[in-house]
Amino acid sequence: MDFSDTPSDAAFRSRARAWLEAHAPKRGAGRTFKDDMDLLRAARGWQAAKADAGFAAITLPKKYGGGGGTAIEQVIYRQEEARFDTPFGVYEIGLGMCIPTLIEIGSDALKERYARPAICGKEIWCQLFSEPSAGSDLAALRTRAELVDGSWRVNGQKLWSTGAQFSDFGLLLARTDLNAPKHAGLTMFIIDMKAAGVEVRPIKQMTGEAEFNEVFFSDAIIPDDHRLTVPGGGWKGAMTTLMFERLNVGADIGLIDTLGLLDLLGTDAFADDLARDLLARWYLNDRGLKLLGYRAVTGLAKGQMPGPEQSITKLYLGRQAQEMADFVLDQRREYGALTGKDLGDWSAIERAWSFGAAMRIAGGTDEILRNIIAERVLGLPSEPRADKGVR
Ligand SMILES: Cc1cc2nc3c(=O)[nH]c(=O)nc-3n(C[C@H](O)[C@H](O)[C@H](O)COP(=O)(O)OP(=O)(O)OC[C@H]3O[C@@H](n4cnc5c(N)ncnc54)[C@H](O)[C@@H]3O)c2cc1C
Repeated sequence: MDFSDTPSDAAFRSRARAWLEAHAPKRGAGRTFKDDMDLLRAARGWQAAKADAGFAAITLPKKYGGGGGTAIEQVIYRQEEARFDTPFGVYEIGLGMCIPTLIEIGSDALKERYARPAICGKEIWCQLFSEPSAGSDLAALRTRAELVDGSWRVNGQKLWSTGAQFSDFGLLLARTDLNAPKHAGLTMFIIDMKAAGVEVRPIKQMTGEAEFNEVFFSDAIIPDDHRLTVPGGGWKGAMTTLMFERLNVGADIGLIDTLGLLDLLGTDAFADDLARDLLARWYLNDRGLKLLGYRAVTGLAKGQMPGPEQSITKLYLGRQAQEMADFVLDQRREYGALTGKDLGDWSAIERAWSFGAAMRIAGGTDEILRNIIAERVLGLPSEPRADKGVR
């Protein structure tokens, strides 16, 4: 495991850091946005500035507006950007998963049309995989796409589609063959989110935000040249997308860290044995996860793909963020029940508490992550898969 950057990675880090220091708003500067549209305007501006500097999509090819860099440079950049208050969120899914999938498996014409506007921040993308009865068991999805007169007619419903209300295009997984076994009857498409027959309904969360949506398709039409996989090849396409999701290793995704907690509450909050015991456990977890992160980053530097052991990090981070936020809110006694956007650090704690539950579901629930760790990291016997190969 390497703990320090190679000379060329160190040079990249200082270039990224210098650019961020010159252009990015500092954390804690108290920047607020009037509404979602205000945030969206700021995000577009920030993405365009990054594209001009070559930091918009570091691993994607230069000919589409990407940085043409390595996966390790992407990790370094994300670590550096996490120290600033930048509005990147709406591009996370598009540039983290949809556009890399398009570049990996799409036709030249589709890459030419869609990659650059997404990288430069002009067009926003969402991922349309999960449905009311297909989340952990994604291959059970029921949204139908039928070939009619050379185009695909789509009917059905997606759920949890992050950012769909702002999106121009979506990466859609739909069932095209009812007679094939469930994993073999799927196909992946690009769908125009503004097309007739596509309706997006935001869902308000307990954080007060509406980040994800229900999306309904009623005879929405997709031209056949917007099909990304062969008919029936959608599962392979979906696995490509999820592989890119795993590349988000090394980013600073912890909501509160242990030392930040000490700063916030002061040492008096840890006067009793139980509180000290909790703090020690969280600190040790933090250290362990950091070391796992170094191992993943070292692997990336050697050209290896992140493996199933990444599930350990997500499993611990989600649970720990919730436990810590719970502890802090308890410490505030009756004031812990206060809500609002203008409470400085406290707003972040409150958000960590209310968003913690979502972190333990999105991108694989705790139980699914435990299955992955058991079967693919520890090599324990598999869960029975009664539906394997079944139509
Ligand atoms: C904040 C957030 C953002 C999201 N963004 C997107 C997005 O942009 N696009 C998208 O397509 N999806 C998105 N999702 C959906 C996400 O991928 C699913 O919610 C997730 O896969 C779980 O599926 P589910 O909600 O259908 O729960 P289910 O799969 O129905 O699970 C219900 C419960 O059963 C348990 N369970 C299920 N199967 C097993 C098993 N085999 N063994 C043990 N326990 C099991 C689960 O752990 C869970 O506790 C998002 C979700 C969240 C919370």
